[in-house]
Amino acid sequence: MKIEEIKRLYSEEIFEALLDRDGSGAGYVCPFCASGAGPKGTGLRPLYVKGVKRPGSYKCFNAGCEWAGDGLDLIAGMYHITEPVEQIRKAEEILRRPLLDRTESIIDEFSKDEKTQDKGNKKPVVINDKLIAEIQAEIQKYHANLLESKAGLDYLAARGISKATAIKYKLGFCDNYNRDGMNTPAIIYPDGPTSYTARSITTNESSRKVRKRKGGEYQDIFNFNVLKDPACPPVVYVVEGQADALSIIEAGGQAIATGGGT
Ligand SMILES: [Zn+2]
Repeated sequence: MKIEEIKRLYSEEIFEALLDRDGSGAGYVCPFCASGAGPKGTGLRPLYVKGVKRPGSYKCFNAGCEWAGDGLDLIAGMYHITEPVEQIRKAEEILRRPLLDRTESIIDEFSKDEKTQDKGNKKPVVINDKLIAEIQAEIQKYHANLLESKAGLDYLAARGISKATAIKYKLGFCDNYNRDGMNTPAIIYPDGPTSYTARSITTNESSRKVRKRKGGEYQDIFNFNVLKDPACPPVVYVVEGQADALSIIEAGGQAIATGGGT
């Protein structure tokens, strides 16, 4: 289990749960020096490293304080907890739900994949806000396309995926998805806040491709949020294809998809 995953997934919620918004409304009142409590006050603001926003990390703008950190660092400072495992337990108490139990094995798998891809080079999380906005706009556009597209809806229906499910998971359709060497009709599966997967639906076997469009270094896991849902059933299937996950969901189960593709 990588502690970075816990930090990445839950830091924002921890700040939100523990701190008051600052006077500017854009950040939080610093719990260590009380900066930001005034009407126009600025306390903790999002942390940028070399111009890139580090998700879930904040920095105090009071020159005399300059505290900086993520959600677990915040817990460490406020409750004087040094052990990471104890910080996570405290985070569970604050967010009133388990953070490790169900996600642990998946995060293990996830970290392994990532390590193979990076060949052991540890890189900071880089999120490109502009690219994410573009990706979200593309997801909207393709979703609107799908609702008008008989070819797209028929393809999904043949795989047992209803229009209601397509709407719920915001699936999309592009009649000629042309990117990274892919040039075919495709179903668009939004995987999460920073990425989607485009899968060819051509009948021509040799043109069938899968492409990921990512706004961050991490690939989102399709339907990952279900693991954080208190109503999540005890068994969640982990599959590769989003359509396979949706078939399980149509049958009354729950599943997440790792996606594959490049
Ligand atoms: Zn401060």
